[in-house]
Amino acid sequence: MSSAKKAAAANKAASAGEASFAEESTAVEEAPSAGKASPAKKTSSAKKAASAKKAPAARKKAPAAKKAAPVKKAAAVKKAPAPRKQVVAPQKATAAVSASPARTVDPHPRGESRTALVRRARRIDRELAEVYPYAHPELDFENPFQLVVATVLSAQTTDLRVNQTTPGLFARYPTPEDLAAANPEEVEEILRPTGFFRAKTKSVIGLSKALVEQFGGEVPGRLEDLVKLPGVGRKTAFVVLGNAFGRPGITVDTHFQRLVRRWRWTEETDPDKIEAAVGALFPKSDWTDLSHHVIWHGRRICHARKPACGACPIAPLCPAYGEGETDPEKARKLLKYEKAGQPGQRLKPPQAYLDAGGRPAPPLGAG
Ligand code: SF4
Repeated sequence: MSSAKKAAAANKAASAGEASFAEESTAVEEAPSAGKASPAKKTSSAKKAASAKKAPAARKKAPAAKKAAPVKKAAAVKKAPAPRKQVVAPQKATAAVSASPARTVDPHPRGESRTALVRRARRIDRELAEVYPYAHPELDFENPFQLVVATVLSAQTTDLRVNQTTPGLFARYPTPEDLAAANPEEVEEILRPTGFFRAKTKSVIGLSKALVEQFGGEVPGRLEDLVKLPGVGRKTAFVVLGNAFGRPGITVDTHFQRLVRRWRWTEETDPDKIEAAVGALFPKSDWTDLSHHVIWHGRRICHARKPACGACPIAPLCPAYGEGETDPEKARKLLKYEKAGQPGQRLKPPQAYLDAGGRPAPPLGAG
């Protein structure tokens, strides 16, 4: 782990030099259009102006129309994109958030400068770090081998289900050598609860064989080696690098993709491009923790179908505020895991999580 810390320190030093945004302000970027009249009003005025021009009689009868915006302005309004609602974020969404004044949020900060985007992105990450100071990988593991296997198994299922399954797997096959020599049918039976168990059996036995044959039974600590293992893509490789080797990596899972688009950090849809775009907004040394913060927020509050905006601590910074339930009481009912007093996904979570009131997940079949 000392080499990992050195690597993290080296990355931090390198990123401190490259980031021209390091001296960022903590001020929230004010919405540039906050003081302007709402587009809906303009459109309505524009229509009145147009009709006033066509029918002078009507203009006499309706003097208010005379005061409408000039025709030129009306034409400009017609070309503008469909108006979006202006939303006012709550002053304080949860007890975990420091009080901040209510702000009008620009719902689509497309004209946001690069510097402003970097500041906003880093401010969101700092706020999330306060909300989830105990954020950690939600797969149980005791060594890199267990983590790479657990991450492969986590495809198309929950971390909870993997955590409930791997104790039996690693008790029976504790090393890559053991799993490489395993009877596939026995492994399939153990992995059945994770779904796609035949393909997953093939992957974990295949990657164990590759570890034994190509890497002396050790999980390699380099991206280019990890992605050569069967069933291991960039996402899995970064999970392993970041959490078992202390090497910075961004984990672009489904939550990460959804949230960074809601926050307008990037418009990219390809995971590799998202990784590059978001990585460029943060120092490398922040990447692993950033991934945890974003994924934790996606799992607990900013859900895919029903984001709990009314209970969201970063609502004042979010361009998508209002996409979900804004009523604080109703939003609180949408929270999950420790934010709702429910068990987490790990059977053996870190002590910091337990100290903060988090509860361990039950073993398989216990609930
Ligand atoms: S829950 Fe709502 S306010 Fe919070 S990050 Fe998600 S979309 Fe934005």
